Amino acid sequence: MYRTHTCGELRMEHAGQPVTLAGWVQTVRKFGSITFVDLRDRYGITQLLLGESLNAQLDKQPLGREFVLQVKGTVTERTSKNNNIPTGDIEITVSEFTVLNGSKTPPFTIQDDTDGGDELRMKYRYLDLRRNLVKQNLTLRYRVNRSVRNFLDSRGFMDIETPYLIKSTPEGARDFVVPSRMNPNQFYALPQSPQTFKQLLMVSGYDRYYQIVKCFRDEDLRADRQPEFTQIDCEMSFVDQEDVLQNFEEMTKHVFHEIKGIEFHEPFPRMTWDDAMKYYGNDKPDIRFEMKLVDLGEPGRGNSFKVFDEAELIVGINVKGCSEYTRKQLDELTEWVKRPQIGMTGLIYIKYNTDGSLKSSIDKFFNERGLQLFADQCQAQPGDLILILAGKEERTRKAMSELRLEMGERLGLRNKDEYKPLWVIDFPLFEYAEEENRWVARHHPFTAPKPEHIHLMDDPAQYKKIKANAYDIVLNGTEIGGGSIRIFQKDLQEKMFAALGMSKEEANHKFGFLLGAFEYGAPPHGGIAFGFDRFCSLLGGNETIRDFIAFPKNNSGRDVMLDAPSEIDQVQLDELKLSLLK
Ligand code: ASP
Repeated sequence: MYRTHTCGELRMEHAGQPVTLAGWVQTVRKFGSITFVDLRDRYGITQLLLGESLNAQLDKQPLGREFVLQVKGTVTERTSKNNNIPTGDIEITVSEFTVLNGSKTPPFTIQDDTDGGDELRMKYRYLDLRRNLVKQNLTLRYRVNRSVRNFLDSRGFMDIETPYLIKSTPEGARDFVVPSRMNPNQFYALPQSPQTFKQLLMVSGYDRYYQIVKCFRDEDLRADRQPEFTQIDCEMSFVDQEDVLQNFEEMTKHVFHEIKGIEFHEPFPRMTWDDAMKYYGNDKPDIRFEMKLVDLGEPGRGNSFKVFDEAELIVGINVKGCSEYTRKQLDELTEWVKRPQIGMTGLIYIKYNTDGSLKSSIDKFFNERGLQLFADQCQAQPGDLILILAGKEERTRKAMSELRLEMGERLGLRNKDEYKPLWVIDFPLFEYAEEENRWVARHHPFTAPKPEHIHLMDDPAQYKKIKANAYDIVLNGTEIGGGSIRIFQKDLQEKMFAALGMSKEEANHKFGFLLGAFEYGAPPHGGIAFGFDRFCSLLGGNETIRDFIAFPKNNSGRDVMLDAPSEIDQVQLDELKLSLLK
């Protein structure tokens, strides 16, 4: 037997017991003729005391960090206890030890505050994974996984695997492709999600499906994305939107209860997409704080102030209690909105001073009464600061949404221990892709329009107005899941493909299997997928999703440990009948 106990297990009640432990050497400290070793494994750290009798062996075989050790000894009460670790009351008085394996000095310290930089830790990820913090994250991920499975199992959902080597499923990103040796010049695509398969499973009658599954999207890896990531993917038959929202709201509550001990007694708020855009400037509002966007077209226009008169949108936020902001602070905020990522040319402010007077950067164009109209529109009180942006509609709204988040951050209103989930519903069915000059599906082409909007599908001029039975679940300003009620009638699906500019032939070529299946009794169905990595990272305190993935890729999509992607042999290329462009 390599061990009788783990390194996290022994307590005072075990005192006097003979034990065998195995693990890694965290530290070695010599005090005169005595050597202390901290032995670590997945479960914790236990102190070992190696007395004088072992010195001869230690001289021959010095111990170093990360050596793998087996020790036999007796559990003894410590003289100086360590309250910081659960095993801190005891140590093992070692009678014999065996070095099971040596170790080179690791390239960084295996500690919480390691000296290793990101790239180095990723290169030696197997060592990084020994660190407590990473271990806690992976443990949390495992617990969330169990919690989700238990919930879905209790609701009759069946875990069914779907293939990875498939034909392209459009979800808005590029596919990763895999050449087929047995079918020269032909390629599989890796699934961007199991979307069409889960719908086919509904046609087959498996009316509650789920899978915790890898998805692959060849996207530019902006902001904390991974080329392969994990979804909690679900689909249900004979449901409407309400059934799906309720079921997955309950799942979310269940996970929060089990993982964080947090109870949500109220139903999650629901906000229409229109309202989210209007009041928060984006479709994943952070509702931990108010500071809603206010349209200031009314008080702004028609006062001979060109910036306002020419703007498509004049929008403000009321930053409560900040009228004391100094010139310097306001200048700095102005620079902030001028950064290329935000892209505005300036920022306008109105201070509602505590004495009731109003002071602004547009005093030349607006008298006190004019400024008061802005203040009223923003429901401002003495002591508040109004920040205003004006310009092209889309950019200005986006910039204000960013500014709102930035102010929330600066004012400490985005507490990461506070969780505020909500549903965003009634998404538009289509969105216009400027670069491609065509309408694309906002969610994906299998999403059903609201029945009362189906008739608008005949006229592209109406596309903008069509809303879908599509929904996202949003947590603290991050989308953690999204889904929709699906089209299940062949003719409506064909109509949808046509609206997206697909010819009948193209639709049949790409989705003949689905259109075919819809001819054999497809039930009404709908579903959702949660971004599992992101959900875990939010539950774990909003670190990057990389911290919650055992072997992640870096920002250029590389696995620096494996050094992948990499070139392949000529023999492999020949077998695949591929030749490379130089
Ligand atoms: N397949 C969708 C996605 O990956 C989710 C869904 O509609 O269920 O976003």
